[in-house]
Amino acid sequence: MMTEPQNYALEARNIYQSYQNGAGTLVNALQSVSFGVRPQEFVSIIGPSGAGKSTLLGLLAGLESQTSGEVFLHNRQVTAKQRLGNVGFMPQKDALAPWRTALDNAVAGLEVKGTPRKEATMLALNLFRRMGLEDFARTYPYALSGGMRQRVALARSALAAGDLLLMDEPFGALDALTRSDMHKWILEVWQSMRKTILLVTHDIQEALVVSDRILVMSARPGTMVAELVVDLPRPRTIEIQTGQAFNTMREQLAKKLESTT
Ligand code: ADP
Repeated sequence: MMTEPQNYALEARNIYQSYQNGAGTLVNALQSVSFGVRPQEFVSIIGPSGAGKSTLLGLLAGLESQTSGEVFLHNRQVTAKQRLGNVGFMPQKDALAPWRTALDNAVAGLEVKGTPRKEATMLALNLFRRMGLEDFARTYPYALSGGMRQRVALARSALAAGDLLLMDEPFGALDALTRSDMHKWILEVWQSMRKTILLVTHDIQEALVVSDRILVMSARPGTMVAELVVDLPRPRTIEIQTGQAFNTMREQLAKKLESTT
């Protein structure tokens, strides 16, 4: 049977990644990982610690090359070098430059791309306004709360490049209230900037609140074991989050995760 070719913003095909461990033996961190993310889709990856989630995101961002397999951006095969700088990447730690104001941190990615200073500032200020950051544009990172710093880091990655945004457990260190606040901002960025998002998280609730689709990874070697389409209306209000459909999905995911470890 002929299948329609899929239009993907990001596609991974048969990705393997191995590392030499301390003893000199080869360890497979990723094995035969294949998936696609459609334009403007919000996909989350959940999996146990050591599943290779960070490894996967790092290589998709172009920080390193895969051992084998192919990566496509908008259906065009790209090397790690071609990916680097062409996808937005938000790491676990905010990594803001302490000597730069919030606004100067946010324009960092645009600077690298060669966007003129005036235009970069305008774009960043615009986004700051939508993210409730306008009063903190001239503030230095040390004077910002953890949640505020992550919000600036989110603005920076969102401005960085293209339509694709990869996030590696960016809210892990935040308390529950600040986390749920961040979900609001990430959805604001996603919708207003028409981004395609791939989020790594270990938090089932988080994945269910933000995603169109959730991919489940198993550990050692990391491989995709399940997929769940989150066909719930948005915004995912408290009513939806306490409803039967949400709970059923939460249970399904918990069971899947349990069976992978
Ligand atoms: P996760 O993000 O799901 O917790 P990681 O991607 O951090 O998982 O790690 C997956 C596996 O790959 C782990 O066993 C880890 O030790 C190994 N690994 C990751 N990066 C390297 C590296 N640079 N060198 C050697 N081993 C690595």
